[in-house]
Amino acid sequence: MPIYRTGRTCYFTESPTHPYRGIFMHFSRKMMNIKPSATLAINAKVLELKARGVSVTSLAVGEPDFPTPEHIREAGIQAIRDGFTRYTAVPGIPELREAIAEYFRRIYGVNPSPDCTIASNGGKQSLYNLFLALLNPGDEVLIPVPYWVSYPAMVYLCQGVPVYVRATSAQHFKITVDQLEQNRTEKTRILIFNSPSNPSGSCYTEEECAAIVQWAVQHNIFIISDEIYDQLVYEPAKPTGLAVWWERYPEHIAIVNGLAKSFAMTGWRVGYTLADPSLIKILNQITGQTTANICSIAQKAAVAALTGSYDCVASMREAFQRRRDMSWKEVSSWKNVFCPKPDGAFYLFADISGLYTEALPDATAVCSMLLEKAGVALVPGDAFGDPACVRFSYAVADDVLMDALHRIRKALYEA
Ligand code: GLU
Repeated sequence: MPIYRTGRTCYFTESPTHPYRGIFMHFSRKMMNIKPSATLAINAKVLELKARGVSVTSLAVGEPDFPTPEHIREAGIQAIRDGFTRYTAVPGIPELREAIAEYFRRIYGVNPSPDCTIASNGGKQSLYNLFLALLNPGDEVLIPVPYWVSYPAMVYLCQGVPVYVRATSAQHFKITVDQLEQNRTEKTRILIFNSPSNPSGSCYTEEECAAIVQWAVQHNIFIISDEIYDQLVYEPAKPTGLAVWWERYPEHIAIVNGLAKSFAMTGWRVGYTLADPSLIKILNQITGQTTANICSIAQKAAVAALTGSYDCVASMREAFQRRRDMSWKEVSSWKNVFCPKPDGAFYLFADISGLYTEALPDATAVCSMLLEKAGVALVPGDAFGDPACVRFSYAVADDVLMDALHRIRKALYEA
């Protein structure tokens, strides 16, 4: 995008739609490539419509509809009652770091020391700080497409260069080692790996993970594995985190996770990173200089979540699997729509390009029409790098979900 220096020491772009066009202030050039988060922007639009009394169902933002389980909320309340409201150690209280390490023992059978962990303000901060810690200007980051909306923006902000590796719906949105190799250059520094994937819900098998890790290690490429949906994998797929590979190659892999999706704790903002202690030290410095510790109360709630019973996680997973099955059955029956069956997370990512016409030429036009005619909000695939698709979140009650899908079907086929 061309940049013009004006007489008033300001930069602006010629894009008529860019949010900073024509604003006469001195912004960082880094912001030129940064758009608002599409998922959060659509969520904001839905909230605004609802506030105006418009009836709209959101299948847009990825947020569990369940309340945070009672015992976790109680731990937060107790922390307030105990006056646990001061600064804590920057990487998190020792109990939390121990609880994170314990999670990896419990789920993946690996045995990290708490020194290999750091708490963050949601998985987003873990990811951003990793890019900040690892990238030099011009370093390339391999991003499989479709990708979660914030990866490219974070890479740009850290002065890296996103290199997109496209996985089509026909390949169930999973990239291969051959594709990675075709896109590797001497500047390739990081591969961002996300299984189960947001937006596609695809999960890589153990063999596919092994092949990708071995390729990355061989070429000294660092893997950031975003495993925020690791508890939401549905049979017959099997959870395949990279923790066992991390134990073998800690200098080549960092794992990002958090409690938002698995424990229905989006608003508490608790994420974490598992990495080699030398990298944790750098992340700790970044955190100490930018945000300090995460909320003390949320840390106590997170300890209760990670060390308590996981029955609540299992029952939410059961509900998501049921919704995955019912929503996929419905959407995959639609004419000219192709939706690979997702293995995990809580999204369907459907190729709707077969529906495009002169009047509805792209996913954004289809989503606008559906918001207006069906009263349902979806996210156009462009936000995830795939303009042929739309994302449906099925993290809503069964009846709300099916009612919304029936309204979409009516708007698409009975108009
Ligand atoms: N990760 C969720 C989504 O994709 C939450 C919103 C966001 O942070 O992007 O909808």
